[in-house]
Amino acid sequence: MKILVLNAGSSSQKSCLYSIDDRLPNEPPEPMWEAAIDWAHHPGFAEIKVKTATEELTEEIEVKSRLEIMAHLLSMLWQGKTAVLNHPTDIDVVGHRVVQGGQEYSQPVQIDQTVKATIDRLSTLAPNHNPANLEGIEAIEQFLGTEIPQIAVFDTAFHRQIPDAAAIYPVPYAWVDQGIRRYGFHGISHQYCAERAAHLLQRNLEDLRLIVCHLGNGCSLSAIAQGHSIDTTMGFTPLDGLMMGTRSGSVDPGILIHLMRQEGYSVDLLDRELNRESGLKGISGVSADLRQVMKAIADNNSQAQLALDIYIHRLRAYIGAMLASLGGVDALIFTAGVGENSAIVRSLACESFGFLGLKLDAHKNENRPVDQDIATTDSTVRVLVIHTQEDWAIAQECYRLRAKHVSLHEKQS
Ligand code: AMP
Repeated sequence: MKILVLNAGSSSQKSCLYSIDDRLPNEPPEPMWEAAIDWAHHPGFAEIKVKTATEELTEEIEVKSRLEIMAHLLSMLWQGKTAVLNHPTDIDVVGHRVVQGGQEYSQPVQIDQTVKATIDRLSTLAPNHNPANLEGIEAIEQFLGTEIPQIAVFDTAFHRQIPDAAAIYPVPYAWVDQGIRRYGFHGISHQYCAERAAHLLQRNLEDLRLIVCHLGNGCSLSAIAQGHSIDTTMGFTPLDGLMMGTRSGSVDPGILIHLMRQEGYSVDLLDRELNRESGLKGISGVSADLRQVMKAIADNNSQAQLALDIYIHRLRAYIGAMLASLGGVDALIFTAGVGENSAIVRSLACESFGFLGLKLDAHKNENRPVDQDIATTDSTVRVLVIHTQEDWAIAQECYRLRAKHVSLHEKQS
C-alpha cells in the first residue's frame, strides 16, 4: 500500500510517501520520498526540499498561488529526478494531520463532505492550522482526483477521553456549553510514543502508566493509563501548560485583565506577545532555541539561566501533576527536539523524582539515546527517550483504517 502523508502548517508543509507491504513492520521504516515546503523562509517564494533514497534537491519557486506550488510538489512524486511512482494513481491513500478535531472526532476518519465541513467549522478553534489542513485536502482532490481515499488524523483525538474533571475549566457553565474545554494537542506524538514505549518495554500498553514529555518548540505532557490519555497540559489552545520556545504556557489570567485595563493592550498584541515573544525567547532575550540559551548560560548570561530555571521548574511541577492524575508511573518518556536531544533537561527534570526511586543512568543519558531506556536497572521507574515519528504514526492509522475498510468490503461482497 502506498500512503502519502501531508502535515500542513501555516508556514511549512511536510509530506512523506510510505510503502507498506502485507503488514505493518515492527520498526518504523524510512519513507520512500520526503518533501518539505517552507513558505516563510523567503517572502514571496516557496523553498522546496525533496529527498529520496538516491536523490536530494532544493528549489526556490516564486509563489503565485499556494495550490500551484503544491501541484508542482506532488508532480515530483512521478516526474523528474525525484520520481518514485509511475503514475499518481499508484497512491492508495492520503493521510492528513488535522490539528483540531473538536469534540467530534476521537478516531481517524475517512474524509467526505461532512468531515470537510466540520474541519472548516472548527477553524475558529484553530485559525492558524485547520484552514491549512483543509487546503491540503482540497489540493489532493484537485490534483489527484476524488477517487483516492483521504483520511484525517486529528492531533486532539487521543485526548478525547480525558475525564471531564481534568478537561473542564472552572468557569461559568455557559462557557462549557460553548465548547470551552481542554482539547489537548500533540496527540499523534503522545499516542505514538505510548505505543512505542510498550513495544520497547515488551509490555502491554493497557498495563502501563506513562507520562510522555513532548518537548519541542511547542511543549506538552500527557498522562496515559490503559492506553488512553487521561490528562494533558495543553488546553483549549496550544498556549496552555508548560513554558515553550516562544509561548508562555499557563499564566495567571488576571495578568491579561490587568494589561488590557491598565496598559491598553489589544487582543492582537496579547496574542502576539504570549504566543511569539514569551517562553525561552521572552525570558532569555536570546533565542527560542534551547541550544542558543545553553550557549548564553555558558557565557554567564543570567537571563538565559533564569529561562532554563523556569523551564525546569514548570516541567517538574507538571510532571508532578501528571503523576498525581495517574496515581503512579511505570515510565517517563522524553521526545521531540528538546526531549530527544537535551541530556541536561532530562537529567534536571528527573532529579526531583529521585524520592520515587527513579534513577537515571548518566552514561546512557549523555550518549545520544534513541528509542532507548536510560534508567538504571534498579530504578523503580523506566525512563525512555523516543524519537517521535508523527508522519509514520499517521501512515499506520491510514493503513489500519484502509485494511478495516477492505476486509468489511470483502465480507459484504
Ligand atoms: P521540534 O519542535 O520537535 O522540532 O523541536 C525544536 C527545538 O528542539 C529547537 O527549537 C531546539 O530548542 C530544540 N533542540 C533541537 N536540538 C537540540 C539539542 N541538541 N539540544 C537542545 N535542544 C535542541
